[in-house]
Amino acid sequence: MTTTTTRRLSLLKPTGHLTLGNYLGALRPMAAGQHEADCFYGVADLHALTVPHDPLELRQHTTELATLLLAVGLDASTLFVQSRVPAHAQLAYLLECVASTGELNRMIQFKEKRGQQDSVRVSLYTYPALMAADILLYRPAQVPVGDDQRQHVELTRDLAMRFNSSYGPVFTVPEITTPAAGARVMDLADPTSKMGKSGAAGPGAIRLLDSPDVIRRKVGRAVTDSETGARAVRADRETKPGVTNLLEILIACGGSADAITTYGALKKAVTDAVVAELEPVRKRYDDLASDAAHVSGVYDAGAARCRAVTAPVLAAAEAAIGLS
Ligand code: AMP
Repeated sequence: MTTTTTRRLSLLKPTGHLTLGNYLGALRPMAAGQHEADCFYGVADLHALTVPHDPLELRQHTTELATLLLAVGLDASTLFVQSRVPAHAQLAYLLECVASTGELNRMIQFKEKRGQQDSVRVSLYTYPALMAADILLYRPAQVPVGDDQRQHVELTRDLAMRFNSSYGPVFTVPEITTPAAGARVMDLADPTSKMGKSGAAGPGAIRLLDSPDVIRRKVGRAVTDSETGARAVRADRETKPGVTNLLEILIACGGSADAITTYGALKKAVTDAVVAELEPVRKRYDDLASDAAHVSGVYDAGAARCRAVTAPVLAAAEAAIGLS
């Protein structure tokens, strides 16, 4: 059993347009840290099939996300599209044969996503087995995980241990670690909820590919509060969530609030800082989007490397469980 301590892996679902929140909270730190480890970043197109979807839209979102990962500078990482590495789906099936319905029934995210619906896709139910395969195939020693995915990674560990004790020591059981607290960007129109992909069509979410004009309009309409006076521009998450969010975005984008005393000036500074941060990404995206051959070349090479890295793990699992 090999453990690779320096591997990092993260999959992003192509189910909407990426926002400034995704960028500051995930993509920018991924790009900044990509030289510290052997990084694998994937577009989780199989996970996007767990809810009703439109094939054309899925393909567009997959291409957009794949191009964006390159545009934010992840060119030193192994980039891949999940479905191009068949070992993910193959190992997921083996793990379904180790998991029990009792375990999957306890998954909070499944219960939340099912909601009041009588019937949902079976893949929504078995999603944790695919996520476990995504992780175990790469043998990372640690998996940094936020609260929303913690239960799934605990299940991943349980499945790995059960498989190992039933069939032989195939999987590295990853340790769960807490990621360093990153920027949490809130919605501009509703600063008590996260700026998320699902709300990316709304007025309070800045999309990564929004033009400067659109960014200016969205920031201009951001919710603040009615306080006036010299102390109005200050952070206080409880009583001034909108202003606090704008200040945090400003700082995260390299700006400074020194000498800013009005909400108008704050919004102007936020707009300038966000535009300065996102313009290079948008320009790079436009260049890459007009060079589809380059992008597919990168992803072909990435998938080939993933297939090579995951093949021995899948083969060991198949042999251990009794497949010939
Ligand atoms: P999601 O879009 O929710 O699938 O999240 C993809 C990645 O982006 C995860 O690492 C999230 O933690 C990060 N992310 C999403 N929205 C935000 C936000 N508003 N602020 C900070 N990070 C975010």
